[in-house]
Amino acid sequence: MYGWMILAAASFVYIRFLYRFVGPHCSYRVAIVEWIGDILELTLTPRTSGMDFKPSQFIYLVVHKTGITPEPHPYSIACGYNLESTIKLGIKRAGDHTATLDLLEPGDPVTLYGPYGRFSEAFLRADRDCIFIGGGIGITPFMGMWHVALHSEERVEEDDLPEDLRRLHPEMMRRWKSPRVALFYVCNNEEQASFDNDINNEIM
Ligand SMILES: Cc1cc2nc3c(=O)[nH]c(=O)nc-3n(C[C@H](O)[C@H](O)[C@H](O)COP(=O)(O)OP(=O)(O)OC[C@H]3O[C@@H](n4cnc5c(N)ncnc54)[C@H](O)[C@@H]3O)c2cc1C
Repeated sequence: MYGWMILAAASFVYIRFLYRFVGPHCSYRVAIVEWIGDILELTLTPRTSGMDFKPSQFIYLVVHKTGITPEPHPYSIACGYNLESTIKLGIKRAGDHTATLDLLEPGDPVTLYGPYGRFSEAFLRADRDCIFIGGGIGITPFMGMWHVALHSEERVEEDDLPEDLRRLHPEMMRRWKSPRVALFYVCNNEEQASFDNDINNEIM
């Protein structure tokens, strides 16, 4: 009982006071801001070293700008891993925090905490065909896996990859073969399908 109480107290202190300094984080800058209806598509580029992430992981976004509340909010990474470590987010206007994001401009500094999540594990095991169904903004976590499924030409021999990359990116190895994927993007109407062009760009 006392053990659990101490653990709970330590967790509180860690997340409330220490996490912002010692939690895994990277400094990024807003590169492109695009509003499509009530969806904000945000492209972020690293200020120093970029974040390494698996497809479909999510980050906590903290914006450093007067007028935008600085608490962390989780968003899925809506793009595939790339050598420039550029990260794209799709953010739907939902409540207090997201309503203030129209103040964002290119050049604004942000901090990304993470990455977190194991959503792509079944896909990366590649032992079963996959059907992805993304409803509206729910398409974002599928974008990374969609990218990986379509970019087989960038794979290398297993021995040419350092151990940590091998663990994080099994899809980069030549022996990895993508499962068959069917992607459904379900929206009320065409105007809401803000990620349509990103999906089509991966095919071309
Ligand atoms: C792992 C993960 C990944 C995510 N990825 C994405 C993503 O890729 N894109 C994206 O857009 N979102 C994503 N989200 C959701 C996103 O984090 C939230 O939409 C965002 O943090 C909302 O912040 P907010 O302050 O604007 O909204 P909030 O003020 O927190 O409101 C959120 C919703 O709750 C309703 N609400 C608030 N208070 C009340 C109340 N008292 N009674 C009834 N309803 C209430 C609001 O109307 C709104 O619909 C993700 C969440 C998680 C957990």
